[in-house]
Amino acid sequence: MLNLKKSAAAFAEAKTLMPGGVNSPVRSYANVGCNPPFIARAQGDKIYDIDGNEYIDYVGSWGPMVVGHAHPNVVRALQEAAARGTSYGAPTCVESDLAKLVMKVYPSIEVIRMVNSGTEATMSALRLARGYTGREKIVKFVGCYHGHSDSLLVHAGSGMATFGVPSSPGVTRGTAQDTISVPYNDVDAITKIMEEMGDEIAAVIVEPVAGNMGCVPPRQGYLRTLRRLTEQHGTLLIFDEVMCGFRASLGGAQAAYGITPDLTCLGKIIGGGLPVAAYGGRRDIMMKVSPAGPVYQAGTLSGNPLAMTAGLETLKIITAEPEPGEADYSRMLTLKTKKLLLGWQEKARKAGVAIQAHQAGSMFGIFFNEHEVWDYEDSCASDQEAFKVWFLSMLEQGIYLAPSQFETLFMSGAHSEEDIERTIDAAGNAFEQVAK
Ligand code: PLP
Repeated sequence: MLNLKKSAAAFAEAKTLMPGGVNSPVRSYANVGCNPPFIARAQGDKIYDIDGNEYIDYVGSWGPMVVGHAHPNVVRALQEAAARGTSYGAPTCVESDLAKLVMKVYPSIEVIRMVNSGTEATMSALRLARGYTGREKIVKFVGCYHGHSDSLLVHAGSGMATFGVPSSPGVTRGTAQDTISVPYNDVDAITKIMEEMGDEIAAVIVEPVAGNMGCVPPRQGYLRTLRRLTEQHGTLLIFDEVMCGFRASLGGAQAAYGITPDLTCLGKIIGGGLPVAAYGGRRDIMMKVSPAGPVYQAGTLSGNPLAMTAGLETLKIITAEPEPGEADYSRMLTLKTKKLLLGWQEKARKAGVAIQAHQAGSMFGIFFNEHEVWDYEDSCASDQEAFKVWFLSMLEQGIYLAPSQFETLFMSGAHSEEDIERTIDAAGNAFEQVAK
Protein backbone atom coordinates (compact mmCIF):
# COMPACT_ATOMS: atom_id res chain seq x y z
CA MET A 1 0.00 0.00 0.00
CA LEU A 2 1.37 3.41 -1.01
CA ASN A 3 2.28 5.56 2.00
CA LEU A 4 0.83 9.04 1.41
CA LYS A 5 0.64 10.09 5.07
CA LYS A 6 2.59 13.34 4.76
CA SER A 7 0.80 14.22 1.52
CA ALA A 8 -2.56 13.65 3.23
CA ALA A 9 -1.61 16.03 6.06
CA ALA A 10 -0.28 18.63 3.61
CA PHE A 11 -3.48 18.36 1.55
CA ALA A 12 -5.66 18.77 4.64
CA GLU A 13 -3.83 22.00 5.45
CA ALA A 14 -3.85 23.22 1.84
CA LYS A 15 -7.64 22.76 1.72
CA THR A 16 -7.95 25.41 4.46
CA LEU A 17 -5.82 27.82 2.40
CA MET A 18 -6.76 27.35 -1.26
CA PRO A 19 -10.03 26.38 -3.00
CA GLY A 20 -9.98 22.57 -2.96
CA GLY A 21 -6.40 22.72 -1.70
CA VAL A 22 -4.94 23.45 -5.12
CA ASN A 23 -4.13 26.20 -7.58
CA SER A 24 -5.53 24.31 -10.59
CA PRO A 25 -8.54 21.95 -10.26
CA VAL A 26 -7.37 18.67 -11.76
CA ARG A 27 -4.45 18.47 -9.30
CA SER A 28 -6.91 17.68 -6.50
CA TYR A 29 -7.46 14.07 -7.69
CA ALA A 30 -11.15 14.67 -6.97
CA ASN A 31 -12.47 12.05 -9.35
CA VAL A 32 -10.02 9.22 -8.59
CA GLY A 33 -10.78 9.13 -4.90
CA CYS A 34 -7.35 9.48 -3.30
CA ASN A 35 -5.18 12.26 -1.94
CA PRO A 36 -2.79 13.79 -4.44
CA PRO A 37 0.89 13.17 -3.72
CA PHE A 38 2.56 16.44 -2.73
CA ILE A 39 5.71 16.79 -4.77
CA ALA A 40 9.12 17.47 -3.26
CA ARG A 41 11.34 17.33 -6.36
CA ALA A 42 11.74 15.88 -9.84
CA GLN A 43 14.69 14.75 -11.91
CA GLY A 44 14.71 13.36 -15.46
CA ASP A 45 11.58 11.22 -15.86
CA LYS A 46 11.15 10.69 -12.10
CA ILE A 47 9.03 12.66 -9.67
CA TYR A 48 9.30 12.29 -5.85
CA ASP A 49 6.67 13.08 -3.24
CA ILE A 50 7.13 14.31 0.34
CA ASP A 51 6.58 10.77 1.69
CA GLY A 52 9.63 9.63 -0.25
CA ASN A 53 7.75 7.73 -3.00
CA GLU A 54 9.35 7.69 -6.45
CA TYR A 55 7.23 7.63 -9.62
CA ILE A 56 7.91 7.44 -13.36
CA ASP A 57 6.23 10.61 -14.55
CA TYR A 58 4.04 10.68 -17.67
CA VAL A 59 2.35 13.96 -16.74
CA GLY A 60 5.44 16.09 -17.22
CA SER A 61 3.77 19.14 -15.64
CA TRP A 62 0.91 18.60 -18.15
CA GLY A 63 3.22 18.68 -21.15
CA PRO A 64 6.09 21.14 -20.83
CA MET A 65 8.80 18.78 -19.51
CA VAL A 66 9.68 17.26 -22.89
CA VAL A 67 13.40 16.99 -22.09
CA GLY A 68 12.70 15.67 -18.59
CA HIS A 69 12.83 17.47 -15.26
CA ALA A 70 15.80 19.61 -14.22
CA HIS A 71 17.71 19.03 -17.45
CA PRO A 72 21.29 20.19 -16.73
CA ASN A 73 21.40 22.60 -19.72
CA VAL A 74 18.15 24.26 -18.64
CA VAL A 75 19.16 24.46 -14.97
CA ARG A 76 22.60 25.91 -15.79
CA ALA A 77 21.18 28.54 -18.15
CA LEU A 78 18.53 29.48 -15.57
CA GLN A 79 21.09 29.85 -12.78
CA GLU A 80 23.19 32.14 -14.97
CA ALA A 81 20.15 34.15 -16.04
CA ALA A 82 18.85 34.51 -12.46
CA ALA A 83 22.19 35.97 -11.38
CA ARG A 84 21.71 38.71 -13.99
CA GLY A 85 18.31 39.70 -12.51
CA THR A 86 14.91 38.05 -12.78
CA SER A 87 12.80 40.68 -14.57
CA TYR A 88 13.41 44.03 -16.24
CA GLY A 89 10.12 44.88 -17.96
CA ALA A 90 12.19 45.97 -20.96
CA PRO A 91 13.27 44.42 -24.28
CA THR A 92 15.96 41.72 -24.22
CA CYS A 93 17.86 39.78 -26.90
CA VAL A 94 16.72 36.41 -25.51
CA GLU A 95 13.14 37.26 -26.56
CA SER A 96 14.29 37.61 -30.17
CA ASP A 97 16.41 34.45 -29.91
CA LEU A 98 13.39 32.42 -28.78
CA ALA A 99 11.15 34.09 -31.40
CA LYS A 100 13.58 33.20 -34.21
CA LEU A 101 13.88 29.58 -33.13
CA VAL A 102 10.10 29.17 -32.85
CA MET A 103 9.57 30.72 -36.30
CA LYS A 104 12.16 28.39 -37.82
CA VAL A 105 10.12 25.40 -36.66
CA TYR A 106 6.73 27.08 -37.35
CA PRO A 107 7.06 28.92 -40.69
CA SER A 108 3.37 29.95 -40.50
CA ILE A 109 4.37 32.26 -37.62
CA GLU A 110 5.75 35.37 -39.29
CA VAL A 111 5.34 37.61 -36.24
CA ILE A 112 4.97 36.44 -32.63
CA ARG A 113 3.90 37.89 -29.27
CA MET A 114 5.03 36.19 -26.03
CA VAL A 115 2.57 35.94 -23.13
CA ASN A 116 2.50 34.08 -19.79
CA SER A 117 -0.07 31.30 -20.20
CA GLY A 118 -1.98 29.36 -22.80
CA THR A 119 -5.13 31.08 -21.56
CA GLU A 120 -3.66 34.46 -22.42
CA ALA A 121 -2.48 33.23 -25.81
CA THR A 122 -5.90 31.98 -26.96
CA MET A 123 -7.78 34.91 -25.40
CA SER A 124 -5.48 37.38 -27.16
CA ALA A 125 -5.63 35.49 -30.47
CA LEU A 126 -9.44 35.70 -30.37
CA ARG A 127 -9.40 39.43 -29.59
CA LEU A 128 -7.04 39.88 -32.52
CA ALA A 129 -9.24 37.81 -34.83
CA ARG A 130 -12.25 39.91 -33.84
CA GLY A 131 -10.30 43.15 -34.25
CA TYR A 132 -8.94 42.08 -37.62
CA THR A 133 -12.20 40.83 -39.13
CA GLY A 134 -14.61 43.24 -37.41
CA ARG A 135 -16.79 40.20 -36.56
CA GLU A 136 -17.84 39.05 -33.08
CA LYS A 137 -18.73 35.36 -33.21
CA ILE A 138 -16.29 32.49 -32.83
CA VAL A 139 -16.56 28.74 -33.29
CA LYS A 140 -14.98 26.21 -30.95
CA PHE A 141 -15.37 22.46 -30.65
CA VAL A 142 -17.07 20.57 -27.85
CA GLY A 143 -14.48 19.11 -25.48
CA CYS A 144 -11.63 21.27 -26.76
CA TYR A 145 -10.09 23.30 -23.95
CA HIS A 146 -8.37 26.58 -24.68
CA GLY A 147 -7.79 27.92 -21.17
CA HIS A 148 -10.22 29.69 -18.91
CA SER A 149 -11.02 33.01 -20.58
CA ASP A 150 -14.77 33.66 -20.57
CA SER A 151 -15.60 33.23 -24.24
CA LEU A 152 -13.76 29.89 -24.34
CA LEU A 153 -15.36 28.37 -21.24
CA VAL A 154 -18.22 26.99 -23.26
CA HIS A 155 -18.30 23.23 -23.74
CA ALA A 156 -14.67 23.03 -22.66
CA GLY A 157 -12.72 19.85 -21.90
CA SER A 158 -9.88 19.15 -19.42
CA GLY A 159 -10.84 19.99 -15.80
CA MET A 160 -14.20 21.26 -17.07
CA ALA A 161 -14.86 17.81 -18.50
CA THR A 162 -13.43 16.09 -15.44
CA PHE A 163 -15.84 17.96 -13.22
CA GLY A 164 -18.77 17.70 -15.61
CA VAL A 165 -19.31 21.47 -15.74
CA PRO A 166 -20.70 22.38 -19.15
CA SER A 167 -19.76 26.03 -18.72
CA SER A 168 -18.86 28.09 -15.70
CA PRO A 169 -21.02 30.34 -13.54
CA GLY A 170 -19.68 33.85 -13.99
CA VAL A 171 -19.53 33.61 -17.77
CA THR A 172 -22.23 36.01 -18.95
CA ARG A 173 -24.94 34.94 -21.38
CA GLY A 174 -23.82 37.74 -23.68
CA THR A 175 -20.31 36.32 -23.84
CA ALA A 176 -21.48 32.75 -24.29
CA GLN A 177 -23.83 33.79 -27.10
CA ASP A 178 -20.88 34.78 -29.26
CA THR A 179 -19.30 31.33 -28.88
CA ILE A 180 -20.73 28.62 -31.09
CA SER A 181 -19.75 25.05 -30.19
CA VAL A 182 -19.88 22.17 -32.62
CA PRO A 183 -18.77 18.53 -32.20
CA TYR A 184 -15.11 17.85 -33.01
CA ASN A 185 -14.26 15.68 -36.03
CA ASP A 186 -17.76 16.17 -37.50
CA VAL A 187 -17.48 17.59 -41.02
CA ASP A 188 -21.24 17.99 -41.48
CA ALA A 189 -21.67 20.02 -38.28
CA ILE A 190 -18.99 22.59 -39.09
CA THR A 191 -20.05 22.77 -42.75
CA LYS A 192 -23.63 23.56 -41.72
CA ILE A 193 -22.59 26.30 -39.29
CA MET A 194 -20.23 27.90 -41.79
CA GLU A 195 -22.87 27.81 -44.53
CA GLU A 196 -25.46 29.37 -42.21
CA MET A 197 -23.37 32.08 -40.58
CA GLY A 198 -19.74 31.87 -41.78
CA ASP A 199 -19.73 35.53 -42.77
CA GLU A 200 -20.36 36.54 -39.13
CA ILE A 201 -17.64 34.33 -37.69
CA ALA A 202 -14.31 35.94 -36.82
CA ALA A 203 -12.44 32.72 -36.10
CA VAL A 204 -12.63 28.98 -35.82
CA ILE A 205 -10.35 27.86 -32.98
CA VAL A 206 -9.39 24.21 -32.69
CA GLU A 207 -6.98 21.92 -30.89
CA PRO A 208 -5.80 20.30 -34.16
CA VAL A 209 -4.97 17.23 -32.10
CA ALA A 210 -7.42 17.31 -29.21
CA GLY A 211 -5.76 16.64 -25.87
CA ASN A 212 -8.40 17.73 -23.39
CA MET A 213 -11.02 15.04 -24.01
CA GLY A 214 -8.21 12.52 -23.73
CA CYS A 215 -5.96 12.32 -26.78
CA VAL A 216 -8.13 12.40 -29.92
CA PRO A 217 -6.41 13.02 -33.26
CA PRO A 218 -8.33 14.54 -36.18
CA ARG A 219 -10.02 12.29 -38.71
CA GLN A 220 -8.33 12.14 -42.08
CA GLY A 221 -9.05 15.33 -44.04
CA TYR A 222 -10.81 17.09 -41.14
CA LEU A 223 -8.28 19.88 -40.70
CA ARG A 224 -8.22 20.42 -44.47
CA THR A 225 -11.99 20.87 -44.37
CA LEU A 226 -11.63 23.48 -41.61
CA ARG A 227 -9.01 25.30 -43.71
CA ARG A 228 -11.23 25.28 -46.81
CA LEU A 229 -14.40 26.41 -45.02
CA THR A 230 -12.66 29.25 -43.15
CA GLU A 231 -10.96 30.47 -46.31
CA GLN A 232 -14.30 30.50 -48.15
CA HIS A 233 -15.85 32.79 -45.53
CA GLY A 234 -12.96 35.12 -44.66
CA THR A 235 -12.85 33.53 -41.19
CA LEU A 236 -9.49 33.11 -39.47
CA LEU A 237 -8.36 29.59 -38.60
CA ILE A 238 -6.61 29.45 -35.22
CA PHE A 239 -4.67 26.33 -34.29
CA ASP A 240 -4.36 26.06 -30.53
CA GLU A 241 -1.13 24.07 -30.38
CA VAL A 242 -0.49 24.88 -26.72
CA MET A 243 -0.45 21.13 -26.06
CA CYS A 244 0.26 19.48 -29.41
CA GLY A 245 2.92 22.00 -30.45
CA PHE A 246 6.38 20.34 -30.62
CA ARG A 247 4.61 17.06 -29.81
CA ALA A 248 2.31 15.96 -32.66
CA SER A 249 5.59 16.51 -34.54
CA LEU A 250 8.39 19.00 -33.96
CA GLY A 251 6.45 21.49 -36.10
CA GLY A 252 3.22 20.53 -34.32
CA ALA A 253 -0.03 19.43 -35.92
CA GLN A 254 0.35 21.96 -38.72
CA ALA A 255 3.52 20.20 -39.92
CA ALA A 256 2.18 16.71 -39.23
CA TYR A 257 -1.03 17.29 -41.23
CA GLY A 258 0.31 19.87 -43.72
CA ILE A 259 -2.24 22.61 -42.93
CA THR A 260 -1.30 26.28 -42.53
CA PRO A 261 -3.47 28.16 -40.00
CA ASP A 262 -3.74 31.95 -39.93
CA LEU A 263 -2.80 32.13 -36.24
CA THR A 264 -1.14 29.64 -33.90
CA CYS A 265 -1.13 29.52 -30.10
CA LEU A 266 1.79 27.84 -28.38
CA GLY A 267 2.51 27.23 -24.69
CA LYS A 268 3.83 24.54 -22.33
CA ILE A 269 7.05 23.36 -24.08
CA ILE A 270 7.84 26.85 -25.37
CA GLY A 271 8.56 27.85 -21.75
CA GLY A 272 10.49 24.71 -20.76
CA GLY A 273 8.58 24.54 -17.45
CA LEU A 274 8.36 28.29 -16.79
CA PRO A 275 5.24 30.35 -17.53
CA VAL A 276 5.44 31.16 -21.25
CA ALA A 277 2.98 30.97 -24.11
CA ALA A 278 2.72 32.81 -27.40
CA TYR A 279 0.45 33.62 -30.29
CA GLY A 280 1.60 34.40 -33.77
CA GLY A 281 0.91 33.99 -37.44
CA ARG A 282 0.38 35.96 -40.63
CA ARG A 283 2.23 39.28 -40.59
CA ASP A 284 -0.73 41.36 -41.81
CA ILE A 285 -2.85 40.04 -38.94
CA MET A 286 -0.19 40.24 -36.23
CA MET A 287 0.70 43.81 -37.16
CA LYS A 288 -2.72 44.81 -35.81
CA VAL A 289 -1.42 44.06 -32.28
CA SER A 290 -0.46 47.01 -30.09
CA PRO A 291 1.78 49.03 -30.38
CA ALA A 292 2.14 48.20 -34.13
CA GLY A 293 -1.67 48.27 -34.41
CA PRO A 294 -4.85 49.05 -32.46
CA VAL A 295 -5.65 45.66 -30.82
CA TYR A 296 -4.48 46.02 -27.22
CA GLN A 297 -2.59 43.33 -25.34
CA ALA A 298 0.21 43.66 -22.77
CA GLY A 299 1.97 41.98 -19.82
CA THR A 300 4.23 43.05 -16.94
CA LEU A 301 6.11 39.73 -17.02
CA SER A 302 5.68 38.93 -20.74
CA GLY A 303 9.00 37.89 -22.30
CA ASN A 304 10.44 37.44 -18.80
CA PRO A 305 14.18 36.70 -19.14
CA LEU A 306 14.15 33.55 -16.99
CA ALA A 307 11.11 32.13 -18.77
CA MET A 308 12.58 32.94 -22.21
CA THR A 309 15.85 31.27 -21.19
CA ALA A 310 14.14 28.05 -20.08
CA GLY A 311 12.16 27.95 -23.32
CA LEU A 312 15.18 28.67 -25.49
CA GLU A 313 17.34 25.99 -23.86
CA THR A 314 14.54 23.43 -24.13
CA LEU A 315 13.93 24.20 -27.80
CA LYS A 316 17.69 24.03 -28.52
CA ILE A 317 17.71 20.46 -27.18
CA ILE A 318 14.69 19.27 -29.16
CA THR A 319 15.74 20.98 -32.42
CA ALA A 320 19.39 19.85 -32.31
CA GLU A 321 20.73 17.95 -35.34
CA PRO A 322 20.78 14.22 -34.44
CA GLU A 323 24.04 12.26 -34.33
CA PRO A 324 24.61 10.33 -37.59
CA GLY A 325 22.41 7.24 -37.66
CA GLU A 326 20.21 8.44 -34.79
CA ALA A 327 16.58 9.60 -34.92
CA ASP A 328 15.90 13.29 -34.28
CA TYR A 329 14.42 14.18 -30.90
CA SER A 330 10.82 14.26 -32.01
CA ARG A 331 11.08 10.92 -33.83
CA MET A 332 12.84 9.38 -30.83
CA LEU A 333 9.89 10.45 -28.62
CA THR A 334 7.37 9.09 -31.11
CA LEU A 335 9.11 5.70 -31.25
CA LYS A 336 9.28 5.41 -27.45
CA THR A 337 5.61 6.32 -27.19
CA LYS A 338 4.70 3.72 -29.79
CA LYS A 339 6.63 1.04 -27.90
CA LEU A 340 4.84 1.89 -24.65
CA LEU A 341 1.39 1.87 -26.24
CA LEU A 342 1.98 -1.40 -28.08
CA GLY A 343 2.99 -2.90 -24.73
CA TRP A 344 -0.15 -1.59 -23.06
CA GLN A 345 -2.36 -2.89 -25.88
CA GLU A 346 -0.82 -6.34 -25.61
CA LYS A 347 -1.30 -6.41 -21.82
CA ALA A 348 -4.91 -5.21 -22.12
CA ARG A 349 -5.64 -7.90 -24.70
CA LYS A 350 -4.16 -10.58 -22.42
CA ALA A 351 -6.29 -9.36 -19.51
CA GLY A 352 -9.40 -9.24 -21.73
CA VAL A 353 -9.92 -5.49 -21.25
CA ALA A 354 -11.17 -3.46 -24.22
CA ILE A 355 -9.21 -0.26 -24.76
CA GLN A 356 -8.69 2.31 -27.48
CA ALA A 357 -5.04 3.46 -27.57
CA HIS A 358 -4.33 6.84 -29.16
CA GLN A 359 -1.05 8.49 -30.07
CA ALA A 360 0.01 11.69 -31.79
CA GLY A 361 3.80 11.88 -31.66
CA SER A 362 4.69 12.06 -27.97
CA MET A 363 1.08 12.65 -26.79
CA PHE A 364 -0.84 9.53 -25.90
CA GLY A 365 -3.61 7.96 -23.86
CA ILE A 366 -6.09 5.12 -23.60
CA PHE A 367 -9.86 4.96 -23.31
CA PHE A 368 -11.66 2.07 -21.64
CA ASN A 369 -14.05 1.66 -24.51
CA GLU A 370 -14.73 -1.11 -27.00
CA HIS A 371 -15.80 1.44 -29.62
CA GLU A 372 -13.72 4.01 -31.47
CA VAL A 373 -13.33 7.43 -29.84
CA TRP A 374 -13.53 10.40 -32.20
CA ASP A 375 -15.14 13.16 -30.15
CA TYR A 376 -16.17 14.31 -26.68
CA GLU A 377 -19.34 12.22 -26.65
CA ASP A 378 -17.34 9.05 -27.42
CA SER A 379 -14.83 10.03 -24.75
CA CYS A 380 -17.61 10.47 -22.15
CA ALA A 381 -19.00 7.05 -23.06
CA SER A 382 -15.75 5.41 -21.93
CA ASP A 383 -15.70 3.49 -18.65
CA GLN A 384 -14.65 5.98 -15.95
CA GLU A 385 -14.79 3.37 -13.18
CA ALA A 386 -12.34 1.15 -15.04
CA PHE A 387 -10.10 4.17 -15.50
CA LYS A 388 -10.12 4.84 -11.76
CA VAL A 389 -9.11 1.26 -10.91
CA TRP A 390 -6.37 1.34 -13.53
CA PHE A 391 -5.09 4.74 -12.41
CA LEU A 392 -4.88 3.80 -8.73
CA SER A 393 -3.14 0.51 -9.51
CA MET A 394 -0.57 2.34 -11.66
CA LEU A 395 0.03 4.92 -8.91
CA GLU A 396 0.54 2.12 -6.36
CA GLN A 397 3.16 0.67 -8.68
CA GLY A 398 5.02 3.97 -8.98
CA ILE A 399 3.62 5.15 -12.31
CA TYR A 400 2.44 8.77 -12.24
CA LEU A 401 -0.39 9.34 -14.74
CA ALA A 402 -2.92 12.14 -15.20
CA PRO A 403 -5.80 11.47 -12.76
CA SER A 404 -8.52 11.72 -15.41
CA GLN A 405 -9.38 9.98 -18.64
CA PHE A 406 -10.02 13.44 -20.13
CA GLU A 407 -6.32 14.26 -20.00
CA THR A 408 -3.37 13.27 -22.18
CA LEU A 409 -0.07 11.64 -21.22
CA PHE A 410 3.35 12.77 -22.38
CA MET A 411 6.65 11.06 -23.19
CA SER A 412 9.95 12.81 -22.53
CA GLY A 413 13.50 12.32 -23.74
CA ALA A 414 14.43 11.26 -20.21
CA HIS A 415 12.27 8.11 -20.19
CA SER A 416 14.60 5.11 -20.47
CA GLU A 417 13.86 1.83 -22.23
CA GLU A 418 13.97 0.16 -18.82
CA ASP A 419 11.36 2.55 -17.42
CA ILE A 420 9.11 1.90 -20.39
CA GLU A 421 9.41 -1.86 -19.80
CA ARG A 422 8.55 -1.29 -16.12
CA THR A 423 5.55 0.79 -17.11
CA ILE A 424 4.32 -1.93 -19.47
CA ASP A 425 4.63 -4.58 -16.73
CA ALA A 426 2.77 -2.34 -14.28
CA ALA A 427 0.04 -1.85 -16.86
CA GLY A 428 -0.35 -5.64 -17.11
CA ASN A 429 -1.09 -5.80 -13.37
CA ALA A 430 -3.40 -2.78 -13.58
CA PHE A 431 -5.44 -4.29 -16.46
CA GLU A 432 -5.81 -7.48 -14.40
CA GLN A 433 -7.26 -5.37 -11.59
CA VAL A 434 -9.70 -3.80 -14.05
CA ALA A 435 -10.72 -7.25 -15.35
CA LYS A 436 -11.54 -8.53 -11.82
N1 PLP B 1 -4.91 25.41 -24.84
C1 PLP B 1 -4.70 24.09 -24.69
C2 PLP B 1 -4.83 23.21 -25.87
C3 PLP B 1 -4.38 23.57 -23.44
O1 PLP B 1 -4.19 22.25 -23.31
C4 PLP B 1 -4.27 24.44 -22.34
C5 PLP B 1 -3.95 23.92 -21.00
O2 PLP B 1 -3.82 22.76 -20.76
C6 PLP B 1 -4.50 25.80 -22.55
C7 PLP B 1 -4.81 26.26 -23.80
C8 PLP B 1 -4.40 26.76 -21.40
O3 PLP B 1 -3.06 26.93 -21.04
P1 PLP B 1 -2.70 27.45 -19.58
O4 PLP B 1 -3.07 26.39 -18.62
O5 PLP B 1 -1.22 27.71 -19.66
O6 PLP B 1 -3.47 28.72 -19.37
